[in-house]
Amino acid sequence: MNYQNTLDFARQQDNIDPLKHFRQRFFIPLVDGKESIYFNGNSLGLQPKTTAQYIQQELDDWARYGGEGHFHAKNPWVSYHEIFPQQLSKIVGALPEEVVVMNQLTVNLHLLMATFYQPTKDRYKILCEAKAFPSDQYALESQVRFHGYRPEDAIIEVAPREGENIIRTEDILQQIEQHKDSLALVLFGGVNYYSGQVFDIAGITAAAHAAGIYAGFDLAHATGNIALELHNWEVDFASWCSYKYLNSGPGGVSGVFIHERHITNRSLPRFAGWWGHRKELRFLMDKGFDPIPTAEGWQLSNAPILLMAAHKASLDIFDEAGMQDLVAKSKKMSGYLHFVLNEINRHLSRKVVEVITPGKEAERGCQVSLLMLEKGKEVFNALMKAGVIADWREPNVIRIAPVPLYNRFEDVWQFGKIIEEVLGNKK
Ligand SMILES: *Cc1c(COP(=O)(O)O)cnc(C)c1O
Repeated sequence: MNYQNTLDFARQQDNIDPLKHFRQRFFIPLVDGKESIYFNGNSLGLQPKTTAQYIQQELDDWARYGGEGHFHAKNPWVSYHEIFPQQLSKIVGALPEEVVVMNQLTVNLHLLMATFYQPTKDRYKILCEAKAFPSDQYALESQVRFHGYRPEDAIIEVAPREGENIIRTEDILQQIEQHKDSLALVLFGGVNYYSGQVFDIAGITAAAHAAGIYAGFDLAHATGNIALELHNWEVDFASWCSYKYLNSGPGGVSGVFIHERHITNRSLPRFAGWWGHRKELRFLMDKGFDPIPTAEGWQLSNAPILLMAAHKASLDIFDEAGMQDLVAKSKKMSGYLHFVLNEINRHLSRKVVEVITPGKEAERGCQVSLLMLEKGKEVFNALMKAGVIADWREPNVIRIAPVPLYNRFEDVWQFGKIIEEVLGNKK
């Protein structure tokens, strides 16, 4: 692709973008009365204009039917969540029976570890990425403590090498091999929230399986962002939240993947609840847990319908746009962003911006993390003042995620222009 760092070029790309109409389906936050350049979709995705309608439908049916809405609402609540596996399986590359929507992400990581982290005297360690999202670190720490181990001993973190920003796949695979006799589980991210690095999910899973252990993934920053093939990659389990790239609202419901080979295995331990019990028997209220033979067998509680309505509003948009086209646009737009940032360094004849996200297309999604080598905070403040909504992380890192559903090439061009103006200013 031959990119140009001009407004004309950016607008032309927006004009020929087959997904351009989707932007109008979202509320774009205003800054000083004008549409912001919203680059925070990796943190909280924007609200579809249809979300209120979907929620209102359920409020109306609740008003109209009361408890009878479980069976007589337009979308009966007992089975409301059953539409999600169809939609999400296309987004994460799974069979529908491998997917369920329930709870929140950290809760699900614990539930999945109840099943897939079964430490023994010799094999009790968990291998994960260094600088994982804090909630994941706390979940792992508390799990190993719960089983009577010490985190310092039981958690192995794979870090970037000295002077590097991203974790080398060869180092992850080597550590799995090195610790294979003491490991019980590999639990990695799909995309690191800080660097934006996409991990080799298939490779890590294969290495874990070669070591005789399970491989699970936290896909909070991967789902709805990069192309996933969880079933074919043989991933044992995964979970993600719906409020980042999946635009389903603050605190939205989480999704879970459990591979086909595990879903009917009744000997796997799990924490059970009535919503995981066989549907045809659920209302008999009998003793003895009899799990649904799909990922739904891990559900505990009846479904939070209002959150699920918000999720449905968003997933209907994903269905319409299609993950393949979204990923294609995302790659093109993030390629453009990398180009624009390089141009800044070139124009100013010195390196002012260092991209810490991997440059290789296969190793990144929408998100790009920039290490600002000059006037970091000043640049960030100028961006905010100009209506760019981005994320600042100490020390001197700006994270942005141009997402294919509602961002434009023009947004990317504007972003570069503001940075160059601040740094090119001699004053
Ligand atoms: C966003 C995020 C979370 C948040 O967890 P919740 O339980 O949904 O609050 C956890 N882990 C990762 C990697 C995340 O990116």
